[in-house]
Amino acid sequence: MENCLFCRIVAGEIPSKKVYEDGDVLAFYDINPNAPVHVLVIPKAHISSIAAVDASNIEVVSRVLLAIPQIARSLGLEEGGYRVVSNCGEDAGQTVPHLHFHILGGKKLPVTLG
Ligand code: AMP
Ligand code: ZN
Repeated sequence: MENCLFCRIVAGEIPSKKVYEDGDVLAFYDINPNAPVHVLVIPKAHISSIAAVDASNIEVVSRVLLAIPQIARSLGLEEGGYRVVSNCGEDAGQTVPHLHFHILGGKKLPVTLG
């Protein structure tokens, strides 16, 4: 997916402020943070959204999910808690069509989700 923004970040063609990386997973700070701590966690492989998760990619997705609490802990969010969000499609406001999980924390977050 040569024109995908997050694939280009994975490839190192666009810089990012990395917080975690392994063979399947990359996490980096959101460029336009919505909370004192706002990190995006993505699979390195291109998966367009939660809607594209299936038996062929669930192993990679599970590694992304396994990394999330580790990353949150490393960011100091474990005690206060944090929110994990994945926008899927237009109504949810997904702007980058590469599966990503927002980790938001560092303050008491607004209760409303929708
Ligand atoms: P979403 O709106 O759920 O698709 O989330 C996409 C997120 O990517 C937004 O919160 C953007 O601020 C963030 N974003 C866009 N471009 C970059 C970038 N180059 N580096 C880091 N985060 C980015
Ligand atoms: Zn991609």
